Amino acid sequence: MRMILVGPPGAGKGTQAARLVDALSIVHISSGDMLRAAVKDGTELGRRADEYMQAGALVPDSLVIDLVLERIARPDASAGFMLDGFPRTRPQAEALDAAMQAAGKQLDVVLLIEVPDALIVERITGRRSDPETGAIYHLTFNPPPASVEGRLVQRRDDTEEACRARLEKYHAETAPIVPYYEERGLLLRVDGVGGLDEVTDRIRRALDSRG
Ligand code: AMP
Repeated sequence: MRMILVGPPGAGKGTQAARLVDALSIVHISSGDMLRAAVKDGTELGRRADEYMQAGALVPDSLVIDLVLERIARPDASAGFMLDGFPRTRPQAEALDAAMQAAGKQLDVVLLIEVPDALIVERITGRRSDPETGAIYHLTFNPPPASVEGRLVQRRDDTEEACRARLEKYHAETAPIVPYYEERGLLLRVDGVGGLDEVTDRIRRALDSRG
């Protein structure tokens, strides 16, 4: 299965992807994780992406598109993938289509996780991650076990200011890709409000109902 997760920052894309990919036997490909790894490694791409990310802006299409298209062309993605955070603009969606077409493959589903803006800031500012395992927690909604608490980190763009900028970008640049996929009958909408298990169940049911 080749699927895309779309949704505002803090919708739970990364968390839900991590819960779903094993059962679906597909790889989780997060453009944000790849960019953060490039920043951490101090690569040329990382140096160029860093300032955009810290400000909550989108990294230019020219940097992100190649990165993701190279990743989905690797052998471990040949059986399927769950794209998380890509595409985020119309040109990215078109570049993905062109690459899929060239490879003779098709997208199966685009899953939109819907969460109202009013809930986003609280979700984002309480988010923490474990640098050793990559696990994502929320101080209130998904509390970490005491054994890992001491090593948790907060993303640099998970401040209230950067969060508001990211939300604005989402509405201006990313939301317009929703009708692009809806017109092709690929879109599945899932309510992202609720507990983690509840949302995972909704996604599973929505995928099952598609057959
Ligand atoms: P995420 O982990 O998906 O929230 O992404 C974190 C940040 O990485 C975003 O706020 C952007 O600055 C950058 N980023 C991730 N994916 C993309 C993308 N597809 N296009 C542009 N910028 C991206």
